[in-house]
Amino acid sequence: MKKGFTASKYPLRWNKKDFSIHVYCSIPNIATGILLKAGNANFIIDPGDGILRDLNTNIGTQEILNISDIFVTHGHHDHIGGVWSLLTYLRVMNKKKSLTIHYPDGCKEIESIYNAFVNVYGSYLSYKIKLNKIGKTKRIIAKKVVVFPFNVIHKEYLLNGKETRSVPAIGYNFTYKNNRICYGGDTTYCEELVKNAKDADLAIIEAGQEGETPDEMHMTLKEAYTIGKSAKEFFLVHVPE
Ligand SMILES: [Zn+2]
Ligand SMILES: [Zn+2]
Repeated sequence: MKKGFTASKYPLRWNKKDFSIHVYCSIPNIATGILLKAGNANFIIDPGDGILRDLNTNIGTQEILNISDIFVTHGHHDHIGGVWSLLTYLRVMNKKKSLTIHYPDGCKEIESIYNAFVNVYGSYLSYKIKLNKIGKTKRIIAKKVVVFPFNVIHKEYLLNGKETRSVPAIGYNFTYKNNRICYGGDTTYCEELVKNAKDADLAIIEAGQEGETPDEMHMTLKEAYTIGKSAKEFFLVHVPE
């Protein structure tokens, strides 16, 4: 039987053997924060504000130092607000192994944070930060996880609250030992997401649109549910609170 969950209470947890995901938070305009564990590997997805606090509470310093990869879906503050504090904490705690940040091509926010961080701490960094800009990248191997990024459609309002512009935005499929988790990030209803969420062992689908009228920013609950139920299990996240 398929199970569906609407995120009324965080954290949301899912696991199959040694492949697990913890959604600590996902509230539009506030924060997202997700931990993915695959065997001994720790990945962070969309480190919004509060991620360091949540990681400290849930996994502690040694496991935080073990984070090897950060996957960013897009540059909105509710998805990257915790990057600076995470990078700084890793420095203070003397991380030795390198860290890779994967992000969509055109995401100025990540590159700006990285440049500012290196500008401030460049000579005093205990670990190497690698940037992996995802343009036409088809596949990433991170530890033993096979990651397929895919394009989604997401927009933001300009100053007057009427005009919009596109935001570089991607979702990710993570496969480990024949189990697959699909995370769409922020997106409107789009075929790429429909295709990628189908038959996933877990799909994490945003339903950030208030009301029932579809738009170019987020999905309505109904749209998100339609996609979610094409997977074996799903979480609906990013629901306005
Ligand atoms: Zn968002
Ligand atoms: Zn967004």
